[in-house]
Amino acid sequence: MKSRIVYGPILSRRLGRSLGVDVIKNTGSKKNCNYDCIYCQLGHVESKLGSPEDVKEPVTSKEVSQSFRNFHKDIEGLDYVTFSGTCEPSLNLSLGEMIRAVREIGGIPVCVITNSSLVGREDVRKNLAQADLIVATLVSGNENTWRKIHRPASGIALQEIIEGLRELAKGGAGKKLALEVMFLESEAGKPLNSTDEEVESLIATIRYICPDEIEILTVSRPPAEKWVRPVSEERLREIAKRFVSEFGEEKVRLVLKGKNKRSRVLHRELDEEVYALLLRRPCTFEQIWQGLNMDPKSLRSVLKKLLGESKIEKIDSETGEYYRTK
Ligand code: SF4
Repeated sequence: MKSRIVYGPILSRRLGRSLGVDVIKNTGSKKNCNYDCIYCQLGHVESKLGSPEDVKEPVTSKEVSQSFRNFHKDIEGLDYVTFSGTCEPSLNLSLGEMIRAVREIGGIPVCVITNSSLVGREDVRKNLAQADLIVATLVSGNENTWRKIHRPASGIALQEIIEGLRELAKGGAGKKLALEVMFLESEAGKPLNSTDEEVESLIATIRYICPDEIEILTVSRPPAEKWVRPVSEERLREIAKRFVSEFGEEKVRLVLKGKNKRSRVLHRELDEEVYALLLRRPCTFEQIWQGLNMDPKSLRSVLKKLLGESKIEKIDSETGEYYRTK
């Protein structure tokens, strides 16, 4: 099945309704990343990309513009265009140019979701700085914990990331840096970042970075490692309270549930739309029809077809029954 550069819209807990843009060509692998996070919703990475220079045939700015022009006008009520998907978007060095092009065509704010791995590089920071909102991951202030959770490609170091994020936080008028802190529990003996000690270390690191916003959340989709568990809502609220006491209510966002805003989507190729969404984000039945604003009956027959063709599979997890690509 053809892999689309622009996919969705998707409903997210952070951004409302957004149209996704995936800027690394799908190479047959489910994800193209320089991390292999224990909590990744896309499963394990087959071969980690070391740097942007390792990306073969990156998506071009022209391809993004063409794809975006084709799809965005069919959808009403978009809150954001989001660069994310099966890859780390900053691995594409044309990202800055793409962001400018998409904003000009759509007139919608642009967000980049980054794993922060490359923010130590000045060229990458310049690209990211074109976005209206950068949502950057930071799971720990301790190198050891950070490494165990992300399992990064060689040559990536936490201290360089912290310095890069601090530079990005200086931003400019209308630019925002939000740090996304994913808190995790796990079975005994495996890494955790939700202990009091980890929380205090993160607070000290974030104080140094000085972001505009801090988003606190936990896993909600089936993780790559079965032993990873979501943090309880009670503990997450406790952590959020500690963050609020340090950074103030206006900076801290506790992300528990998504919005359910609806919009009109003119469908063209339903199978392709559903597959493109599931390739980037495993979803429950409800999340698919709500995100794509489909009739549940039509979705049932699309899912039956894709399951019959072995293009997708159904998986059970603690948080529900999900569909994902095979
Ligand atoms: S969670 Fe994101 S950064 Fe981590 S491995 Fe998956 S795609 Fe890469």
